[in-house]
Amino acid sequence: TTATDVELIGKQEVIQMYRSRPQFAHKGMFGHSLLIGGSYGKMGAIILASKAAMRAGSGMVTAYIPQIGVPILQTALPEVMTETDNFNGKVFEEIDFQTKANAIGIGPGMGTDSKTAKAMGDFLKTQKNPLVIDADAINIIAAIPELLADVPALSIFTPHFGELERLIGKWEDDFDRLEKTAKFAKKHDIAIVMKGAHTITTYDMKLYINDSGNPGLATAGSGDVLTGVITGLLAQGYHPMEAALMGVYFHGRAADIAINQYGIEGLIASDVTEFLGRAYMDLF
Ligand code: AMP
Ligand code: MG
Repeated sequence: TTATDVELIGKQEVIQMYRSRPQFAHKGMFGHSLLIGGSYGKMGAIILASKAAMRAGSGMVTAYIPQIGVPILQTALPEVMTETDNFNGKVFEEIDFQTKANAIGIGPGMGTDSKTAKAMGDFLKTQKNPLVIDADAINIIAAIPELLADVPALSIFTPHFGELERLIGKWEDDFDRLEKTAKFAKKHDIAIVMKGAHTITTYDMKLYINDSGNPGLATAGSGDVLTGVITGLLAQGYHPMEAALMGVYFHGRAADIAINQYGIEGLIASDVTEFLGRAYMDLF
């Protein structure tokens, strides 16, 4: 690979990045996360992401979802606020919100309806700060590559292998995948979190290999939890690369602790969220 630098990210590296909470803290100091996604039959994805942003320490969280999902989300998560569009659909057709978000994550459960894709394209044009871009938001960008020009610098893409292939095209072998992904990220000035058994993040031709996580994470919704964690860290003021690397680490570490209780087969995505606090505690 032409990537110049490879770094392993484990507990010691995360301790260097982590900032503890001051005693006289108030919620305004820890940012407001906005999670955009959800559609009919896939509200769970945005519920998982929103709750994970709260557990990651975001001071406030709002979910931007289609109208059909509002009662579902508000029943599931009392801590989370909602915003919606003026349409009455199973997907949203417009992304227009009042929330003063410190960080935005987009994609979980969103669907790839052409109206949603149009809404996302219009939304991207209004954005200057780094976004967390996952799931169907990646699929929409993969289908309409012109949208890449409107993605803010230092945005964090979190594809699994299927989404990565749609985004960058086919690769020959592991080395080719790393090289193609690193070059793609460099070209568009984005970070790409290549999710899998050993998640590797690339930015500026550097590679960061995560050392936490286990095959219990091979279960529905675990990626949605990761999106929430990274967005929640970004909202707290961490640099996008810190948010990406810490988020991947804590997500994996929470799963490593959670399997002591639930087992690898028994682990489900919401268990990972429940154990996020333990992953933070485990640093010290
Ligand atoms: P998604 O496919 O979007 O739900 O994301 C799956 C999440 O689980 C990512 O964070 C992956 O890194 C993680 N994951 C999936 N399979 C494994 C595995 N075998 N070992 C460790 N982590 C995994
Ligand atoms: Mg996913």
